[in-house]
Amino acid sequence: MTDIKKLDSEYIAPTYGRTDLCLKEGKGSTCFDYDGKKYIDLGAGIAVNGFGFCDEEYKNAVIEQLSLIQHTSNLYYTAPQAKLAELLCIRTGMKKVFFSNSGAEANECAIKAARKYSSDKYGDGRNVIITLKDSFHGRTLTTISATGQEAYHTHFGPFTGGFVHVAANNVDEMKKAVKENKCCGIMIELIQGEGGVNVLLPEYVKEIEKICKEEDILLIIDEVQTGNGRTGYLYAYQGYDIEPDIVSTAKGLGGGLPIGATMFSDKVKDTLSAGTHGSTFGGNPVVCAGAFSVLSRITDDVLEDVKKKNKFIVDELAGAKGVKSITGLGLMLGIETEKDNKEILNKCLERGVIVLTAKHKVRLLPALTITDEELVEAIRILKEVIAE
Ligand SMILES: *Cc1c(COP(=O)(O)O)cnc(C)c1O
Repeated sequence: MTDIKKLDSEYIAPTYGRTDLCLKEGKGSTCFDYDGKKYIDLGAGIAVNGFGFCDEEYKNAVIEQLSLIQHTSNLYYTAPQAKLAELLCIRTGMKKVFFSNSGAEANECAIKAARKYSSDKYGDGRNVIITLKDSFHGRTLTTISATGQEAYHTHFGPFTGGFVHVAANNVDEMKKAVKENKCCGIMIELIQGEGGVNVLLPEYVKEIEKICKEEDILLIIDEVQTGNGRTGYLYAYQGYDIEPDIVSTAKGLGGGLPIGATMFSDKVKDTLSAGTHGSTFGGNPVVCAGAFSVLSRITDDVLEDVKKKNKFIVDELAGAKGVKSITGLGLMLGIETEKDNKEILNKCLERGVIVLTAKHKVRLLPALTITDEELVEAIRILKEVIAE
């Protein structure tokens, strides 16, 4: 471990404030570091490992494709990519998909599509995309511009123009921004993940949908974190009774390998025409075979189970000693605590439980398939640490 830390600090660009942990192996939601110390994981690699570590079916799907062909480029057709796109459309009602390699790229694609849709139909100049304060949409220059947090808007200027940020859950502010800007899109997370696990109110989201329909503004839902079963719905928007024009996702879709997907409704399914967008790795067959294995197994039973696990966690922690509030949906939860969240993270780690933070909260994003045994044990320890 000291060797690894030394190499890392010498050779890795220092962009990450790393936690003192280096995992070697794992199965399900249980994993081990290089000293053989055991941990129960409530982070799932930031909502990525939906079926936990080294899930057998996932592993076999990836290995099988890897032994056939690992990459061909998008100059040619590949079966895993076409099949994954079909499954995404069947499960969502969206009509077409563009594959990339990350959440930021999935959002870049969504932004390009919204601007092109508008420029095709209304000419240039109608290009503003409204996003929310405390949002997070990625780390590329354009997606940090989209991100509604001042802390991201330094050092790297000039930034991509055309983004306006408004307060979440405030209909009047949204209406005012729509009126004052030439908008082509509104992009929102239904639960702001990095921004502190803030849930958007259903009536607010319905109102945004209405505004978008009336003004022919595209409704873009960033489901990079909320998607792929995380909230107890396959995609969180399916619990909001809305019809988005564009849905972006990443994290949990790949089950551990990098993928981004941007899904288009009927209205925008052919907007990004030949030559207007692309990716060398996007839709890589190995990654898509793994994603197909993940997506095809996020069944109604799994989603019900996510809701049950949510209830268990909320019942345990709401009103418990040291807990101020708990927000979120499904297995995407933010816990506001009396103690400093970093202190809780480190104490949990000492006692063999991995948790995350978001803003001032403790954030939980466990694997959808965490066992009751693992969950009961991890929440018992977390509860004790919070109460100490
Ligand atoms: C993580 C995240 C992103 C960025 O995804 P990357 O894969 O890191 O580029 C974008 N939007 C949301 C909501 C996220 O949680």
